[in-house]
Amino acid sequence: MKCLTKFFSMIVILSFFLNIAYAQKIVIAIDAGHGGKDSGAVGPNKLYEKTVTLAISQKLAELMKHDHSMKPVLTRTSDKYISVFQRSEIARQHKASLLISIHADAAPVSSASGISAWVLSTKRADTELGRWLEKHEKQSQLLGGAGDVLAGEESNPYLSQAILDLQFSYSQRASYDLAKAILKEMHQVGKLHKSRPEYASLGVLRSPDIPSVLVEVGFISNIYEEKLLKSTAHQDKIAKAIYFGVKHYLKQNPTIGVKH
Ligand SMILES: [Zn+2]
Repeated sequence: MKCLTKFFSMIVILSFFLNIAYAQKIVIAIDAGHGGKDSGAVGPNKLYEKTVTLAISQKLAELMKHDHSMKPVLTRTSDKYISVFQRSEIARQHKASLLISIHADAAPVSSASGISAWVLSTKRADTELGRWLEKHEKQSQLLGGAGDVLAGEESNPYLSQAILDLQFSYSQRASYDLAKAILKEMHQVGKLHKSRPEYASLGVLRSPDIPSVLVEVGFISNIYEEKLLKSTAHQDKIAKAIYFGVKHYLKQNPTIGVKH
C-alpha cells in the first residue's frame, strides 16, 4: 500500500509539471438535468425542470468560457433526451476533471424550499466499484495514470481493487469539498434546504475518476421558487454562485485537473 501511495504521488507531481508546461484549462462538465421526453419536475404554473436546468447550465458555461482557467463542456445544448449513462460518458470523453449536474427539486409538500447539493453515497460508490472491477476493458478508460496501470495489470485483481478504491475515495472527498464550496456561494442567493452536502445514490454521480456534484437549485414545486427559477435575473445569480464556488474550490485545490 505504501508503494501505491508513492506511485500515486509520483503521478500527481509529474502531471503537475506537465500541466504547467502546457497550461491546460480545467475541463468542467456541466450537465443540464433531464431534456426531451424527460421533462423532469413540473411546477404549479407549468414551468419544466428541463427548461430551467438548460438555461442555468448555459449561463454557467458562458461564465466559465470567459475564465482563462476553465473549459466548460455541456452534456446537452438543446431540449434533447440523454440517458444518465451517456451524461457521465460525455464528461469522460472530454476528459472532464469535474462534473456539475444541475437540477430543480420537487416535493409533495408545496412549502418545501431551498437549495441543496448532493454527492455519491459510499454504498453506491461500492456498487459502482464492483461494476468497474468486473469490466476489465472499461478500466483502461479511467483518467490519469490509473487507467494505464489497470489495463496493463492482467492478473492482479487486488491491485485493481486497491487503485479503484483510491480513485473512488479521492473522488468522493473532492466531490464533497466542491459541493461545500458551491453551497457556501449559493447561501448568498437564497435559503439552503440543507446546509451541508447530502449523500445520494444517483446515476449521474457514478464516475470513480471525475468528482461530481448534483445541485438542486430550488424547489420548482414551490410556487414562489418556481417564479424565481423562471426569472433570468435569478438564473444569473445561481449560475454566478456555482461559478464562484467552482473557482474557489479550484483555488484551494490547485492539483485538480493535472491528472491528464
Ligand atoms: Zn431533476
